[in-house]
Amino acid sequence: MATYVYDFSEGNKDLKDLLGGKGANLAEMTRIGLPVPPGFTITTEACRAYMASGHLPPELRVEVTMALRRLEDSLGRGLGDFHDPLLVSVRSGAKFSMPGMMDTVLNIGLNDASVQGLTKFSGDERFAWDSYRRLIQMFGKTVLDIDGDLFSHALDDMKKARGVAADTELSAGDLHELVDQFKEIVREQSGREFPQHPREQLDLAITAVFNSWNTDRARLYRRRERIPHDLGTAVNVVSMVFGNLGADSGTGVCFTRDPATGKSGVYGDYLPNAQGEDVVAGIRNTLSLADLERLDPTSYAELRAAMRTLETHYRDLCDIEFTIERGKLWMLQTRVGKRTAGAAFRIATQLVDEHLITMDEALQRVSGAQLSNLMFPQFDSEAERDLLATGMAASPGAAVGQAVFDSATAQEWAAQGKDVILVRRETNPDDLGGMIAAVGVLTSRGGKTSHAAVVARGMGTTCVVGAEKLDVDVVARRIRVGKRVVAEGDTIAIDGSTGEIFVGAVPVVPSPVVQYLEEGLDVALGALHGDDADQTAELVRAVDRILTHADVVRRLRVHANADTADDAHRARLWGAQGIGLCRTEHMFLGERRVLIERLILATTDDERTAALDALLPLQRADFVDLLEQMDGLPTTIRLIDPPLHEFLPDLTALSVKVALADERGETGEDVERDRLLLAAVQRMHEANPMLGLRGVRLGIVIPGLFALQIRAVAEAAAQRLADGGRPHAEIMVPLAASVMELHLVRDEAEQIIADVAREQGVELHIPIGAMIELPRAALTADRMAGAAEFFSFGTNDLTQTTWGFSRDDVEGAFFAEYTEKGVISVSPFETIDRRGVGRLVRIAVEEGRAARPELTLGVCGEHGGDPESVHFFHEVGLDYVSCSPFRVPVARLEAGRAAVSTGGSDTR
Ligand code: ADP
Ligand code: MG
Ligand code: MG
Repeated sequence: MATYVYDFSEGNKDLKDLLGGKGANLAEMTRIGLPVPPGFTITTEACRAYMASGHLPPELRVEVTMALRRLEDSLGRGLGDFHDPLLVSVRSGAKFSMPGMMDTVLNIGLNDASVQGLTKFSGDERFAWDSYRRLIQMFGKTVLDIDGDLFSHALDDMKKARGVAADTELSAGDLHELVDQFKEIVREQSGREFPQHPREQLDLAITAVFNSWNTDRARLYRRRERIPHDLGTAVNVVSMVFGNLGADSGTGVCFTRDPATGKSGVYGDYLPNAQGEDVVAGIRNTLSLADLERLDPTSYAELRAAMRTLETHYRDLCDIEFTIERGKLWMLQTRVGKRTAGAAFRIATQLVDEHLITMDEALQRVSGAQLSNLMFPQFDSEAERDLLATGMAASPGAAVGQAVFDSATAQEWAAQGKDVILVRRETNPDDLGGMIAAVGVLTSRGGKTSHAAVVARGMGTTCVVGAEKLDVDVVARRIRVGKRVVAEGDTIAIDGSTGEIFVGAVPVVPSPVVQYLEEGLDVALGALHGDDADQTAELVRAVDRILTHADVVRRLRVHANADTADDAHRARLWGAQGIGLCRTEHMFLGERRVLIERLILATTDDERTAALDALLPLQRADFVDLLEQMDGLPTTIRLIDPPLHEFLPDLTALSVKVALADERGETGEDVERDRLLLAAVQRMHEANPMLGLRGVRLGIVIPGLFALQIRAVAEAAAQRLADGGRPHAEIMVPLAASVMELHLVRDEAEQIIADVAREQGVELHIPIGAMIELPRAALTADRMAGAAEFFSFGTNDLTQTTWGFSRDDVEGAFFAEYTEKGVISVSPFETIDRRGVGRLVRIAVEEGRAARPELTLGVCGEHGGDPESVHFFHEVGLDYVSCSPFRVPVARLEAGRAAVSTGGSDTR
């Protein structure tokens, strides 16, 4: 039984963990009868064994031999055979596709002897030498780590010497000469001969693929995409088919639907007489598939049929690599294709309408990240714009930034806070750092399947490619278009939905999806005009259908964090079903700050009462507005949380002011007040305010403060009732660690609420709950539940106190290094740390519910709007998540996805 090696005929598409994406899909295509050149896959397990021990496991060598023999027998040819050689490609392929990350070597098995055999077998000497020079070039670069420019410069020099433009115009003799030059380069650079033994070539290439898993580029990509570093890659060994056998051969890439718009149809690039990555590399200008239809109608028809088979089989958009060898079609790769955010929504509903998937499945095909992508602003088509050129729309969005011409500058300028657009002739994996740093990517060459396009789409970065009118000079750092010049640092704007490139900044307008969210489907559709109105209408309808479905299936309610009536209004438009967190501290700022100062400086009960009395009507008015906006919906108001000195002047500034006044001998009421303030500030100064006198502690220590707020809430609710409203105010106590703290606040609150009810002659029910944001609160949840009608997890503070991280201090200081070193894979402030913080949440949910079955449970930290965290909160059985208004639609969608997804998505 094979453990490290699977023939293509043995695997299937569900074995991605073991065979990698490419291997699993090659097996699947083989299984469903598509023409795949035979081969085998070395598993990710072998890679992991290699990484652990530093050498190829001996069993692997044996299994490769066995697989190779099976391959040779089935084809009747031997690897690197002198007469009729079998050649193979060695291709990497991890579980998740990592564009451009790892290196493929074609034509393994060629050497000085078998190149003769290949000539005889093909009857084409030129082809044989072309294949050989490609092998040495790729092998030299990826296996022997030789600078690839040395080979490509030698090739360029040869073309110049022969006075030809394309490599296809070089003769067999030229290529033979080039092979000699390439071998010389190998000798000089690596200190060894180019390996002639086919099996040695194969083993070295396999090892190189394993090693490529850990290159800086690969690690950077994985960090960004949150792919674990320990998965390893599989290696695919595939018998070669040749697209460079003349005019009736070629190689291409295609999608079953347009990955930018979702439109169904034939969509791809074809390059006659070419091998491997020539298409993607933008070496020669590609043809369209319509051209292929004219050149070779039979292969074209066969390709169309294969595309349809794949789309029906995978029930999704597929992207495909194929090669035609002398009129025979071969499928070399397929996978469920990456797509733009807009296309994801459109394709999902198209597939529903074609009865290929259900609405539940459609919901799984889109993500909250894609939805938020669609909520970005777009260029204003009415604004005056200075069009420089038009390229191909590769990845949507509207990017405005300064032009830069290399990856290093892009990263440097971005670090200085500048928006940059990376401009290249074409990109390669070395540009990844710059592409990540840039707000947009622009290239003058390559198609929609070029490296720049694929990577930018994956990252959600705006991208325009193949703007051939641009003469990009990366050395002089400028773009020329006719007489016009754009220099480094000049502002340009690129539209990734139309391919347009503008000089200067272009104003942006809100996205139609946002208009839909705010004003409804009819208004949004009615507002559309212009060329792409139909397409946009399809998108808005798709978003509406999928989001509506999410609302139907989700169990989690979605609330919003909103402090003002305005925020609450917006949140409600966007679908919030309540307010999960209203922070009251902003209500003590601005003009009201003096009242707080008076409260803090009060020395007698009378002074204190006077200050509180002045605040009461203001607070009450705030709450009346808020409850009116949220009429009929739960509105959770949190009592004041931050330490009081945050409302006082800064210690240093005040010290200086008082010192100056003293020096000048100034006196008077103001100076006296400053002096008192300074004393108060000094008294309240804390070494670590985050863990100091704040939250419920403040309420217990400063008499009357919480009472004021509670009375304001109760009176506001009473007033709303009197006005015929349906207020659902709730009071939340921050930072409680002990149930005794809750009891103290609760006893006082119940008294006040009862008083107000009696005074106003209304019946008031205002639930009182606890914000669970300290580990002790979570760990004593059974007791806390005795004094709380609801829990709301304050996961920001809970994360700070569980990890002992002060968020503001640690994120900027060392999180980059922590991520780099693998301590954390993503900031626990962004995505909930399931193992630690998440465990506390789980404990509190279970014990809280056990003690009080009707306990309402929610979360109001930033995590409430983070897609991955929403899935966790669904799993642990919370009743609602609460997040900032802008993230409400994302949370609605993700809550729906969580409800239909089978099993959790615990990746760490
Ligand atoms: P990537 O992951 O970068 O797409 P691939 O392993 O798919 O790398 O290979 C690079 C190129 O070589 C692709 O264009 C692919 O179609 C081509 N290729 C790979 N294996 C073979 C083969 N056995 N015969 C012909 N072309 C191949
Ligand atoms: Mg590659
Ligand atoms: Mg490929």
